[in-house]
Amino acid sequence: IDPVKENYVRKVKNCIFSIALPTPFKSRVHLVAVSKEVLEDILDLDLSVSETEDFIQLVSGEKIVFGSIPLAHRYGGHQFGIWADQLGDGRAHLIGIYMNRQGEKWELQLKGSGKTPYSRNGDGRAVLRSSVREFLCSEAMHYLGIPTSRAASLVVSDDEVWRDQFYNGSIVKERGAVVLRIAKSWFRIGSLEILAHYGELDLLRTLLDFIIREHFPSVDVKEPNRYVGFFSIVVSKTAQLIALWMSVGFAHGVCNTDNFSLLSITIDYGPFGFMEAYNPGFVPNTSDDERRYKIGNQANIGMFNLNKLLQAINPLLDPGQKQLFRELFKAKLGLLGETKGDDDLIAFLLQLMEEKEADFTMTFRQLSEITQSQLQELSIPQQFWALKMISKHKLFPVWVSQYLLRLKSNVNDSDSKRRERMTTVNPRYVLKNWMAESAVQKAERNDFSEVRLLQRVLQHPFQKHPAAERAGYSSPTPSWARDLRVSCSS
Ligand code: AMP
Ligand code: MG
Ligand code: MG
Repeated sequence: IDPVKENYVRKVKNCIFSIALPTPFKSRVHLVAVSKEVLEDILDLDLSVSETEDFIQLVSGEKIVFGSIPLAHRYGGHQFGIWADQLGDGRAHLIGIYMNRQGEKWELQLKGSGKTPYSRNGDGRAVLRSSVREFLCSEAMHYLGIPTSRAASLVVSDDEVWRDQFYNGSIVKERGAVVLRIAKSWFRIGSLEILAHYGELDLLRTLLDFIIREHFPSVDVKEPNRYVGFFSIVVSKTAQLIALWMSVGFAHGVCNTDNFSLLSITIDYGPFGFMEAYNPGFVPNTSDDERRYKIGNQANIGMFNLNKLLQAINPLLDPGQKQLFRELFKAKLGLLGETKGDDDLIAFLLQLMEEKEADFTMTFRQLSEITQSQLQELSIPQQFWALKMISKHKLFPVWVSQYLLRLKSNVNDSDSKRRERMTTVNPRYVLKNWMAESAVQKAERNDFSEVRLLQRVLQHPFQKHPAAERAGYSSPTPSWARDLRVSCSS
């Protein structure tokens, strides 16, 4: 391969990766840091390896592992709300996938390793400053229990890299650095967007099926419904990720769709920041003039990005599956098959919930736990407090009779099967603002127990958890937290 030929900057069509070789530094390379845990626990390497010349050559892009074909990934994305067309790995090289002793596959990527077809106006390099930040923060996030890419090593060379100082217009000389970063997958929302944008639907399907097969074991890749299943998992995991960010005061800084992972891990550390003084308007990125990515807006941006993901996979959905909302809510109600009145039945319930201000999560959860005969008799046990609230609506008995009638048209079903099915899609625990706030308040006093409890509970949001019950996580919001909305929607 002629690296110069392969790396020339261009618009690329009809592919997911381009072959692109890293560009070695011209001057000396120094090892700044390695993550012992990543080397030893993930990459099956002894720490002492990092002292060898071979290692430095590998992690700086000087040398390629035998048999490896380095690749740059083609992706697009919405930047600051606007379609930015082709972006891609402009300064990163995928150097291989490693399967370790535990059978896990990890994708190894160099960042800062030179130009690729996707470098646009960039130089393909990363400076020491930003590389130190990525190295430290991705590891820190991991130890905070937040899904993230990891960093294995950081090297710096004496090669000069020139960077604009945005705040005073001058250009300063910095040094080029490379981080070896790893993730189970580096695919992003923008990976799918670019294929959809150019109508490359066969590739879109191939890529999405690959991602589902490799990374979404609970979704059957032979199922016609698989894209809906995939999407609903990305939605809930992304929501969980952003909630975790919020719980530690982390603002990503550049929540563009090309920086949002399809595995819902934190990737592409740039001008991120941890909030110091509590301020929902905190913006870590000084060039984010419109304050789009302020810390308190991340959940909204998550919705925007997921909507872009939905638009990207839309061409793969058949007309039935396009009714994603209906499909998901039918599952929430335990409805099998399809009847004409399904939309109305869903809308009717949501109307009752709205008018009675019933808790969204717990209404569906309690419908998953109550038996049909309890519903039929309209004798709602005390523990089903959310259902009790909507049962005060004068039309509740009408809805119940329609619902029970509809359940009769489920084929091969029983009430226990229905409840089992519904409890797997209706979570018992979501991270409500008051829970995060309560954990944050304790954490401020150096009591991290509730952060850890929430972290454990939210890993299994569908399972009843005794400590979570004691903490009141499936109970009505405590009165102290009723007015939390303003301060905590952030
Ligand atoms: P980011 O804002 O870091 O997520 O990057 C957005 C896009 O710009 C991605 O396609 C990057 O690969 C690309 N990019 C950023 N910095 C450089 C650089 N120095 N050289 C080439 N491409 C870059
Ligand atoms: Mg990026
Ligand atoms: Mg990047």
